[in-house]
Amino acid sequence: MKLFNLSVFIVFFTFFSNAQIQSESDYVQILGIVQDAGYPHIGCEKDCCELVKPGDYFVSCIGLVDKANNKRYLFDATPDMHNQLNLLEKFPNGNLIDGIFLTHAHIGHYTGLMYLGREGLGGNKIKVYALKRMAAFLRKNGPWNQLIKLKNIDIQTISNKNFTKLSKNILVIPIKVPHRDEYSETVGYKIIGKTKKILFIPDIDKWNEWEKILLKR
Ligand SMILES: [Zn+2]
Ligand SMILES: [Zn+2]
Repeated sequence: MKLFNLSVFIVFFTFFSNAQIQSESDYVQILGIVQDAGYPHIGCEKDCCELVKPGDYFVSCIGLVDKANNKRYLFDATPDMHNQLNLLEKFPNGNLIDGIFLTHAHIGHYTGLMYLGREGLGGNKIKVYALKRMAAFLRKNGPWNQLIKLKNIDIQTISNKNFTKLSKNILVIPIKVPHRDEYSETVGYKIIGKTKKILFIPDIDKWNEWEKILLKR
């Protein structure tokens, strides 16, 4: 099992942001590292963005590949999702996506769901995991509720600190974090593999506002 602990995750995050990884065991791949609105950033005329080519960076997202069962999961559905899926290992008889775990209702984290509807993939009951407020937001608002009505997506309501078992070896646990929660709660995900675990927190206001202390002092 090749899931990464937090320290390895940060190294991996820095050096292999869009790398295609092939492995014999389950693994996590970083598919994007930038803020919701992308990079180059809209409206920025400084060198930081002028020198970046479109497509060099994608919005924050990780993919989880379950090799034993030929399954592919995404953590967040970003506006770059169509390109990010091409970076993730494909299985000949596998599904395009076996599930998407959402963190919250800010544009970089859920709007990729738009690709799953009539104008895009026309998905068939793709599992979308979300906490209660996030799930209610999708059910109550268009165009997301059309995805539910047409059964393009199938919402799986999950709850804070309760695990979802994806396979014999993989557990996923949502953990609430402090953030601007206008439309939904915000969570990070702990992914527990056979021998390693990682924590994916794509958005948090301040680490010191979090009840959880990650590092032992
Ligand atoms: Zn810039
Ligand atoms: Zn956010």
